[in-house]
Amino acid sequence: MHPRQRDRGQVRGNVTWDRLRAAAGRESLCLRAPLPAGPGCCTVCRGPTRVGYLRCFHCALHRRRAPGLLADVVVPVSYSVAGTAYARMLWLYKSDGAGQNAARTALRLMLLVFLHEHGRCVWACARIAAPTHVAVVPTGRGRPGAHPLEALVGPYLALPPAALAIRPGEPVYGRDLHTGRFQAAGRLTGATVLLLDDTWTSGSSAQSAAAALKLAGARSVVTVVLGRHVNPSDPLANSLAAALAGSSFRAELCAVHGAAA
Ligand SMILES: [Zn+2]
Ligand SMILES: [Zn+2]
Repeated sequence: MHPRQRDRGQVRGNVTWDRLRAAAGRESLCLRAPLPAGPGCCTVCRGPTRVGYLRCFHCALHRRRAPGLLADVVVPVSYSVAGTAYARMLWLYKSDGAGQNAARTALRLMLLVFLHEHGRCVWACARIAAPTHVAVVPTGRGRPGAHPLEALVGPYLALPPAALAIRPGEPVYGRDLHTGRFQAAGRLTGATVLLLDDTWTSGSSAQSAAAALKLAGARSVVTVVLGRHVNPSDPLANSLAAALAGSSFRAELCAVHGAAA
């Protein structure tokens, strides 16, 4: 890798990207590329919206509750359609079940290749040169040690961590956006933070984490999520799920510089 790319917050290490890209391509068969924001597709999270609405119910609510504190850009790598192999992988990697190691390897590969290939278009979309820190949305599982996602990719990212924790006294499983739910370990004045999460369902946790980073002084927060959850049995998601059934994942495209048609 070119040293300048490392300076720009890209993935570090002496790795053969062609080989990793090919391996990620094999895993991408179960991915579904984010649809372009527009009718029926939320301009923030790419989830399903009601007819005539720019944002889904939760993104509209978050915008009213925490103006100025939300992520500047939210970028799903793929949809995670309930019942599919990808949705299972996103659950399995955090579990102790059989197949957790295979799921971890596949997700690590996909996220690192995505950041390598599309990091710069994601930063450009947020109008930042590059992130200065990386953070992970705290898990509600309350397990000791590093967050599974942090353990997965942290060692490969040339970025200092911006640690987030559930504020003492706050519920472990918060369902709604709450700007005081998480707290950053220290001041982040002027920081531009890459915030990672595995699955975006309502986005309440990820946006609560973005708010904590901004309240600690972060100038920008760019959220990258591995899977934007879609429940095909949700009537609102019908048309989106139908569009996804015919779409395929193309590793050279991403949600910000060329979503699936
Ligand atoms: Zn949304
Ligand atoms: Zn891109």
